[in-house]
Amino acid sequence: MTARKIAAGNWKMNGLLAQLDEVPALLAADPDPACTVLLCPPATLISDMAAKASGSYLAIGAQDCHASASGAHTGDISAEMIADLGAAFVITGHSERRTDHGETSADVAAKTTAAWDAGLTAIVCLGETEAERDAGATLSVVGDQLAQSLPDGVTAENTVVAYEPVWAIGTGRVAGPEQIVEVHDALRAALIARFGAPVGSAIPLLYGGSVKPGNAAEIFAVSNVDGALVGGASLKAADFGAIVRALSAS
Ligand code: PEP
Repeated sequence: MTARKIAAGNWKMNGLLAQLDEVPALLAADPDPACTVLLCPPATLISDMAAKASGSYLAIGAQDCHASASGAHTGDISAEMIADLGAAFVITGHSERRTDHGETSADVAAKTTAAWDAGLTAIVCLGETEAERDAGATLSVVGDQLAQSLPDGVTAENTVVAYEPVWAIGTGRVAGPEQIVEVHDALRAALIARFGAPVGSAIPLLYGGSVKPGNAAEIFAVSNVDGALVGGASLKAADFGAIVRALSAS
């Protein structure tokens, strides 16, 4: 079984109501992509973006959720609240959350379970730092993150895995095809070993880290790359649409 292709955009802490004009622009430029397409705006825009995308192929995701369903957690947002706004996906374990908020892989696993409980598909992120790569520890770091961030109960529908080398996020430094294939092949093997071939081979494996219109086709040609998690280049419909087209054509 092969995994479905996914182009996911992460707007991070960017975007005001005016930027929602990018949604109709994207839909007009790419009326019928041959892949799943989703945008993860800041929480403040989920509801309005979902309304703009209503009836179209564009799915909406959040960038984080709390591990609890409700309670005394000032400022946090539960997975159920995210689903209630019309989102179908949530990113868990983005490296900026792991770094800025000290999230551990155990925290990521708890958030991923919460996402499933609310009916959301979790996009579980992992990736090594530059120091870890320089130390030759890339495969052990991402292997440990994968093992500890994924709870039992993974299916090809409820989970997407995104490999995002920390040194390539927002830096313009993209991992080379040989670096990507080494990690993605190892992740695929680990998923099959833990969850069995039917599930493990159908979980989408995304690459993230400075994906742009100019490098997308080369990245999508790498084996076991089923799409991308895109930060900066997802903010403009022209750029994200070009990446969606490259994935559709791959
Ligand atoms: C990301 O935030 O997940 C990301 C990959 O960012 P960028 O594409 O800007 O490197």
